[in-house]
Amino acid sequence: MLRAMDPFPVLRITKDDLVPEGSFAESQAAFLKPDPAVVEELNALLAKKKIGVVAHFYMDPELQGVLAACDWKHIGVSDSLLMADRGIRMVAEGCETIVVLGVDFMSENARAMLDDAGHRDTPVYRVAQEEIGCSLAESAEKQAYGAYLMQASETPRSMHVVYINTSLVTKAKAHALVPTITCTSSNVVQTILQASSQIEDVQIFFGPDTYMGENLESMLRAYEAMDDQAVRALHPAYDAGKIAALRKRFHHFQQGNCVVHHMFGEDVVKRVKEKHADAFVTAHLEVPGEMFALALDYQHEGRGVVGSTSNILGFILRKTREVLESGSDEKLQFVLGTEAGMITPIVRQVQEILREAGSDRSVDILFPVASEAVAQTNESLLPIVPGVAAGEGCSVAGGCATCPYMKMNSLDALLELCRRIGEASPEELAPFEPKKYTETIDGRTAADLGGEPILHMRAFQQTDELPQTLVDDVIHRNGPGDTVAEPGVL
Ligand code: SF4
Repeated sequence: MLRAMDPFPVLRITKDDLVPEGSFAESQAAFLKPDPAVVEELNALLAKKKIGVVAHFYMDPELQGVLAACDWKHIGVSDSLLMADRGIRMVAEGCETIVVLGVDFMSENARAMLDDAGHRDTPVYRVAQEEIGCSLAESAEKQAYGAYLMQASETPRSMHVVYINTSLVTKAKAHALVPTITCTSSNVVQTILQASSQIEDVQIFFGPDTYMGENLESMLRAYEAMDDQAVRALHPAYDAGKIAALRKRFHHFQQGNCVVHHMFGEDVVKRVKEKHADAFVTAHLEVPGEMFALALDYQHEGRGVVGSTSNILGFILRKTREVLESGSDEKLQFVLGTEAGMITPIVRQVQEILREAGSDRSVDILFPVASEAVAQTNESLLPIVPGVAAGEGCSVAGGCATCPYMKMNSLDALLELCRRIGEASPEELAPFEPKKYTETIDGRTAADLGGEPILHMRAFQQTDELPQTLVDDVIHRNGPGDTVAEPGVL
């Protein structure tokens, strides 16, 4: 978690060099110089026992560095959506066991998707015997969420868009009440837009992440203010008026919190104001509410931008040129409020400008994330960078790498589990398996019913359309009742 006096990670760009500062430099060292003996042991264990490893982006740099140094090809680091897909592919390519590095809903998803793909006999293990929880997933298990869904179930044409950070049993119970589709932060906007384009008058109930719900509402408002051509670029079925109509049918839950992001969002804004008030501030439309509002304030003063990744890149390049051409000594510092992958084009193009100008000035990119957060880029220029990677399934906010639950996936725990696989009895390994969820709901196991919203999302990912079974379910399930929920927060 971001501590009070931690500086933001900084990358200093000069015309010929890149200098990481502070905790970013330490993370880079841990990532780039893993212990060779550990790499050798893990690699040998994985290859000998045919173990595939699917890891979430938010593993710490030491563990990610060891994984990256192994040459066993069945290791994948990705968002939670891709984790399950990669597990399936690894089994198809000969892996006999899948180890999941993440929190429990991720291993449950992987188990459900492997079962659906016909790999019920392939063991899936987590690296801890105890529960690897998630405060956000827990908030969807509370009574308040049940009440929210009851209201949805009494609303005609209601569809529940549930964030993937929830347990299978939550998804199952929700789907029994309201037709449900899973989403991640990378596909939630398109899921909502597509639903409303395919289902007239659909009422969208999003949850449990309150911050994401608020951001989605803010984004819909921002889209409403755009011209029709820009709106159509987001989704061809829309103009600003249709977005406004959709926003009135969008509802979000108010009591779903991720402990990490709750701390992080407030602290980011405070820190930028206190420590980096003279920096320029940029933010993608999808960042958390606090960061979004801050960047909007800076934009009004001409010192920031809110927009797409190309808007952000364009702003940084333009400001750099302006300052160099004016000869002013204004600091060239930019808070980068978007995914980590953006840094590569920024570095290349800023260096070009500095070289063309023959300038010895430096440009600092400040990453408003928890100091230990890193993401891999697959680029030789910068193999890791601070912050979150695009498409992550944890949340829209930065700083997930410091989640106390994610930290339960230690390198030692992974090594110990790999040593035991194939040696220990099934009973000894049973506590490492994902929960089985054999209870039945509406005559189906929770695992089976809870897997359906994930399959709906996968179908949407593959075809760009919501599956017809889901559409029909939304139209017919909750009937032409006479209750219509008020828009907004419930
Ligand atoms: S950082 Fe991610 S896994 Fe950790 S509590 Fe928050 S949502 Fe859950």
